[in-house]
Amino acid sequence: MHGGSPSRIRNVVGGAHVEGDRRFFEDINPATGKTVALVEEATRDDVDRAVNAARAALKGPWGKLTQDERAKALHRIADGVEARFDEFLKAEILDTGKPVSLASHLDIPRGAANFRAFAELPKHHAGEFFPMRTPDGGDALNYSLRSPRGVIAVICPWNLPLLLMTWKVGPALACGNTVVVKPSEETPATATLLAEVMRDAGIPDGVYNVVNGLGPDSAGQFLTEHPGVDGITFTGETRTGEAIMAAAAKGVRPVSFELGGKNAGIVFADCDIEKALDQSVRAVFANAGQVCLQTERLYVERPIFDQFVEGLAARAAKQKPGDPFDKGTTFGPVISDEHRTKILGYYDKAAAQGAKVVSGGGVIEMEGDLADGHWIAPTIWTGLDDDSDIVREEIFGPCVHIAPFDSEDEAIARTNATEYGLASMLWTQDLSRAHRVAAQLEAGITWVNSWFLRDLRTAFGGMKHSGIGREGGIHGLEFYTELRNVCVRI
Ligand code: NAD
Repeated sequence: MHGGSPSRIRNVVGGAHVEGDRRFFEDINPATGKTVALVEEATRDDVDRAVNAARAALKGPWGKLTQDERAKALHRIADGVEARFDEFLKAEILDTGKPVSLASHLDIPRGAANFRAFAELPKHHAGEFFPMRTPDGGDALNYSLRSPRGVIAVICPWNLPLLLMTWKVGPALACGNTVVVKPSEETPATATLLAEVMRDAGIPDGVYNVVNGLGPDSAGQFLTEHPGVDGITFTGETRTGEAIMAAAAKGVRPVSFELGGKNAGIVFADCDIEKALDQSVRAVFANAGQVCLQTERLYVERPIFDQFVEGLAARAAKQKPGDPFDKGTTFGPVISDEHRTKILGYYDKAAAQGAKVVSGGGVIEMEGDLADGHWIAPTIWTGLDDDSDIVREEIFGPCVHIAPFDSEDEAIARTNATEYGLASMLWTQDLSRAHRVAAQLEAGITWVNSWFLRDLRTAFGGMKHSGIGREGGIHGLEFYTELRNVCVRI
């Protein structure tokens, strides 16, 4: 395993590491349970200085760059992430425990791609233009201008740390804002590494600041309450979103929220079942189920129900837990002992409620260095009613409940019977049905005969309790810029 003595992670304010004694917390490797780094917890004063540094940078050289120059700067950041690919990869794996096969294909490449995708975007977005007649018979022209929103607070979760953070920092910087990032306390390493990339790419001091800490009574709360923050973009749990929204109410600051989900998949009997199974096993177990787009509910048309459950169980049995740095490992631990305890609570509850445990249902005993990691078995249940909390609440673990259905309308109604609305997937070879059903699903994203195919130009976000606003493509401009109308009397 990749061990060594714990490193120290410091906050980055105005381009420099914050010096001085700070309380610190431990950054734990979920695969081993060992400490990889000691993280300095930002004080209220540190957060204040970070926000002030970001404000000052808006008025400095960064604020004077042309759109072209900013685009070039973003490409340099992407180049820097790619040049230090192996360092980012190692840091992300040590923080999350995710297998190298996943992080090397998803997390780190997307960390760079997010800067490239947004670099050119504001350049190609046309504004509005409305000629009008005035009441006295004259003419006037309206046109729109966009300007940066200002200082953006970026609050991130732990499941895809670099990917989700750059998904916000990329468009924020492309639009000319400056940022103060608060990474998850579980996964602080790559945000700090990115500060070095920013410096080497010539990004002016104060454009990108990092404050580490927890949520309540710590860096998260200090940052979201700070009156110098002009907008808050947050990805995480719905109830955290509620707390952040309350903080944002003071000073009526706008929020962009990507929140929790309880995503469902519908599998019709006419689907290509092998393809449906191959993608469903990803949709359920990738990243040990800790993907916001993950499927925790599957509705399978009755004629293929038994075959599908059996096929998914066979694929679950083939998951290979192991050293995340081993290329053959396909299944990692969950993020923390606390999260494992929470998921195990649901596993116990499912059994108590009479679920049939088709596979898994408990912890995985690992050996050697991995013995103290947060391992938990890929789990499949059947037999619960839709009103069970297993079927209603987000678990965010490697588990799924599968239920049979008999009609299209029933499948749609049961899929939509949730307070969440992030993602859904459906499997059918009937094209008309695919379009008809997709149009009725209450989810921000629907995949037909696929899962997690992402085009970064498309709208990304959730309905209902799964979020506010959309990220991706031009949609991010709504949050990261202020739209102004100029009316000229001719
Ligand atoms: P979380 O809400 O516990 O924490 C997210 C971040 O918010 C962390 O940095 C945390 O320190 C901070 N935070 C916590 N309380 C705060 C407060 N009061 N004020 C300010 N900041 C605070 O979420 P998590 O456990 O890190 O991530 C898992 C959750 O994220 C799941 O619910 C998952 O569905 C969701 N998620 C959603 C998406 C999406 O795109 N919709 C993507 C990934 C994860």
